[in-house]
Amino acid sequence: MSDRPHTDPSSAPSASNAGSEGGDFPQTLAVQPPLNVPPGFASFSYPTYRGSTVVFRNLAELRAHGDGATTYWRYGIHATPTSEALCQHLSMLEGARHALLLPSGLGAISLVYFALLKAGDDVLVPYNIYGPNREHGEWLARDFGITVRPYDPMIGAGIEDLITPNTRLIWMEAPGSVTMEVPDTEAIVAAARSRGVLTAIDNTWSAGIYFRPFDKGIDISVQALTKYQSGGSDVLMGAVLCRDDAIHQKLRRVRMLMGWGVSSDDCYLVLRALPSLPVRLAAHDRAAREVAEWLSQRPEVVKVLHPALPDCPGHDFWRRDFSGATGLFAIVLHARYTRAQVDAFVEALRLFAIGWSWGGAHSLAVPYHVQTMRPAGSWPPAGWQHAGELVRLYIGLEDTRDLIADLRVAMERMLPAP
Ligand SMILES: *Cc1c(COP(=O)(O)O)cnc(C)c1O
Repeated sequence: MSDRPHTDPSSAPSASNAGSEGGDFPQTLAVQPPLNVPPGFASFSYPTYRGSTVVFRNLAELRAHGDGATTYWRYGIHATPTSEALCQHLSMLEGARHALLLPSGLGAISLVYFALLKAGDDVLVPYNIYGPNREHGEWLARDFGITVRPYDPMIGAGIEDLITPNTRLIWMEAPGSVTMEVPDTEAIVAAARSRGVLTAIDNTWSAGIYFRPFDKGIDISVQALTKYQSGGSDVLMGAVLCRDDAIHQKLRRVRMLMGWGVSSDDCYLVLRALPSLPVRLAAHDRAAREVAEWLSQRPEVVKVLHPALPDCPGHDFWRRDFSGATGLFAIVLHARYTRAQVDAFVEALRLFAIGWSWGGAHSLAVPYHVQTMRPAGSWPPAGWQHAGELVRLYIGLEDTRDLIADLRVAMERMLPAP
């Protein structure tokens, strides 16, 4: 039997039934026009292949549906050439072998939990992990018979004492969300490996460029592509990356069973932004260090929690393990300022928008009351004098002279000297 008309995904976009005979009646022509679009168009843009159904060339292909040997493609939700191009591009940048796309960064976190854990398993989660990750773990602990135990992100080799025979997974985040501690991932991975425990890192802050998890023996990396990879504050997407084939197959299977996929249009938007990712990160890095250093001289500020500055817990691990820093850091204001005064400072900023999802061109600021976000007594760390409220800052791509002037004016108006 000869092959049927078919879109060849390796060629430039063409009409879906190019070369078919067409029908006699308008309605058939409307559905199957015998178009003849000239081949040979080339550009730097990757085509956006949309498709719910995948069209097979013959029944043998359909029956093999995506076994990888006979035919790669299976169904629109699982992969299109556009999503596959994004997976390959991301894998290359971070040094993975496999990537899977999810509808959000949190979706990527959820896939790791659901694909790798079952009732009775134990997972260790640092208490500075991205908040919704912690809530996801707490939900699984409540309703799905998994034990989820928080650990101090600066625990290092001490993690070994927390590992039980049921421990299956250790989460890490470097640096952690909001409070920015950089963990000793080397020590944690060594302990995990010696006990046969999987490790996963939320590597969103470094965008997979400044921290190379797979070179350090970490099994799984999660990226919120929503942030730097998209770069436009207009796409929500996540990725789970790994090197190991067996882990990838588990993740892939559960992603399929859950019906979790992404739109090729959104993949296109991320693909469009990836060529500028390293230069954007370098620009965020330069600007954020300049603003952070200016802030470290201010009398209103008692700590600048930027991994490249010595105040940040784990600064030495950042120096050992990272090749750069990015745009997100935090400051701890003097305890003489009330929460209301700190809120007024944030609201007085004109160039820093109030919002959570960083990674785009616009600077952001959010105040956090850290005491309510982690175990009692663990904040502020011992020995920190006059530590008050925390403000997380994201430095976008505006001119730092304007950003610094904005911070100065808002501080001088809302955070009076004693
Ligand atoms: C934003 C973020 C996520 C979640 O990404 P979404 O796409 O917004 O769900 C996960 N981890 C970290 C560290 C993040 O900053």
